Amino acid sequence: MKLEGQVALVTGAGRGIGKAIALHLAREGAHIIFTNRTPEQADQTRQEIEATGRECMSCLVDVSDATAIKSMTEQAMERFGKIDILVNNAGITRDNLFLRMKQEDWEDVLNINLTGMFNVTHSVIKSMIKKRYGRIVNITSVVGFTGNPGQVNYSASKAGIIGFTKSIASELGSRNITCNAVAPGFIKTDMTDVLSEERTTQLLERIPLGRLGTGDDIAQAVSFLVSEQASYITGTVLHVNGGMY
Ligand code: NDP
Repeated sequence: MKLEGQVALVTGAGRGIGKAIALHLAREGAHIIFTNRTPEQADQTRQEIEATGRECMSCLVDVSDATAIKSMTEQAMERFGKIDILVNNAGITRDNLFLRMKQEDWEDVLNINLTGMFNVTHSVIKSMIKKRYGRIVNITSVVGFTGNPGQVNYSASKAGIIGFTKSIASELGSRNITCNAVAPGFIKTDMTDVLSEERTTQLLERIPLGRLGTGDDIAQAVSFLVSEQASYITGTVLHVNGGMY
């Protein structure tokens, strides 16, 4: 129970990696606030978090909506009084070859993956500064480092997250706020379930550990970065990809 009494905000936790992270942090003692946009998934996640014995506040909020995020954070602060941990996980893909990529596919991905991270971090940072404590973990991706055909928008957003993370770390270290990123490789979720069998086989050949990752693989890394054991680590990227990069 290394996070007992702490409060964590996890974005995009209705399913997939975000849900695994939220559940993991709850099992370690943290109360959870989480966002997503689909009510049925939100209810399911909330019930599973409450079953761990922790408090949970579920918010149907789009991270790209700055006004809604601000009001969500105010409500969360009223209920819990603080936010110790922020995990910026919400993200989408709108894949297409660059020549065929529509302006809206570029904008949607940048607005949710990168501007969403700005909105949420901006809305909680003042309270972290006041408390002189904060642990921020941003979910980037291996493709932010390698690039990927068909993912110019997504790779650009994920590479942007790395600069964002390092700059926040250097600005706010003096306030005892750490900011790190986790870069998953290919993880089995709805996001990768759309890949063809052929593409998955090709990917597996590039992964030395011979399997796709799980949400729990990522949750373990996040849990380390928000723990006391990682209190001298900031501005870094932890790669969790089975050795593919
Ligand atoms: P999923 O598509 O399985 O889940 C995404 C979650 O984010 C859902 O709960 C979704 O809920 C929520 N979400 C999406 N857009 C928004 C939004 N605008 N506002 C609030 N919530 C939102 O994705 P994964 O779990 O696979 O991915 C999670 C993160 O990990 C993403 O940032 C992704 O880029 C990153 N990642 C994933 C990899 C993988 O292989 N799966 C690899 C590398 C990185 P709803 O639709 O209800 O809004």
